[in-house]
Amino acid sequence: MEQEEITGKCIRCYKLVPILEMVVDASGKGMTCRPCAGLSPEEKKEPVPTKKKEPGKQLRYTCGDCKFAFSSVRQANDVTCGYCGSRNILTERESSAQAMLDDVAKRRFSDDE
Ligand SMILES: [Zn+2]
Ligand SMILES: [Zn+2]
Repeated sequence: MEQEEITGKCIRCYKLVPILEMVVDASGKGMTCRPCAGLSPEEKKEPVPTKKKEPGKQLRYTCGDCKFAFSSVRQANDVTCGYCGSRNILTERESSAQAMLDDVAKRRFSDDE
């Protein structure tokens, strides 16, 4: 004689489920099936989607023509300005150096006044 599977009624969806697959409802008023308890129906571990492909390091660039600042994972010689399409791209260091030069130029300008 086969052993009868003990089932219980889920208090949420009223489905008959094996008692072993049930959990006590958060309300404590009864038992629910695993899906109703917000659990996966089976114990098996779902493969956790791992982001193995790490996005490349974003590099900061500034367009030498329109000064549009953007970041890209590509190398400086492989990027074009997303705004004007220029290939005259400055890296962050270059652009800050450029900004400093600009600053100096501006200062000189004002000094001349
Ligand atoms: Zn249920
Ligand atoms: Zn540009």
